[in-house]
Amino acid sequence: MTKTETGIPPGELADQNSRFESGGPEDVLRWADETFGQRAVQVSSFGLEDVALFDMYWRINEDARVMTLDTLRLPTETYTLFDQFQLRYRVEIEAQYPDLEAVRAMIREKGFNLFYKGVQNRKRCCGIRKVDPLNKALAGVDAWITGLRRDQGMDRGSIDIVEWDAQHGNYKINPLANWTFDQVREYVDANDVPYNELHDRGYPSLGCAPCTRAVEPGEDIRAGRWWWEGDPDAKECGLHIVEAASR
Ligand code: SF4
Repeated sequence: MTKTETGIPPGELADQNSRFESGGPEDVLRWADETFGQRAVQVSSFGLEDVALFDMYWRINEDARVMTLDTLRLPTETYTLFDQFQLRYRVEIEAQYPDLEAVRAMIREKGFNLFYKGVQNRKRCCGIRKVDPLNKALAGVDAWITGLRRDQGMDRGSIDIVEWDAQHGNYKINPLANWTFDQVREYVDANDVPYNELHDRGYPSLGCAPCTRAVEPGEDIRAGRWWWEGDPDAKECGLHIVEAASR
């Protein structure tokens, strides 16, 4: 079946979403697996939500696909987790890399740590290292699965569990949309899911090493991302643009 043949009528999607709101993430993943099979992929930054979600997905389909954006600037602890994950689940993490010529040109013009020198530079770096590789990778799938939660703030408060992603021409599935951080933590602990050791050192949100720091107790969970930028509303890298056509 091709991408265009998977269209779900908007009314049906709305009904499906209201059923999913009262079910669990596993119901959503089971539906995604039955509907899209190997044409769906989890896009993971290997944060706590992502590892919990993959564990659920793998229990439904041992061949479940998982993709990550290797920006070439990730913390060592994240690469350690990649190795642990591949051993535990016998899965090949589909790492997506930036275009090296674009990286080279950017560094030549602006320097290796350009992101500290203005929001435009930071967005350019995120564009080359994350957004462009994601767009390229998503062109080949019918559905992508994310670990987004509504209570993470920003635009995420309005996400649906299943959305038509007009930008990428496929479905975006957020099985944890109505979960809390505590529910995620409980799942990880109860199922002994491997997770990034940085979480135990005050990093609730994980990203590239030079752009992520630990947060103090009580601080916003995304306060450690691009902390030198003042505007909290700008703390997205362009990967998640909310375009829920299903509402
Ligand atoms: S998070 Fe930082 S290093 Fe990573 S892509 Fe964005 S600006 Fe570049």
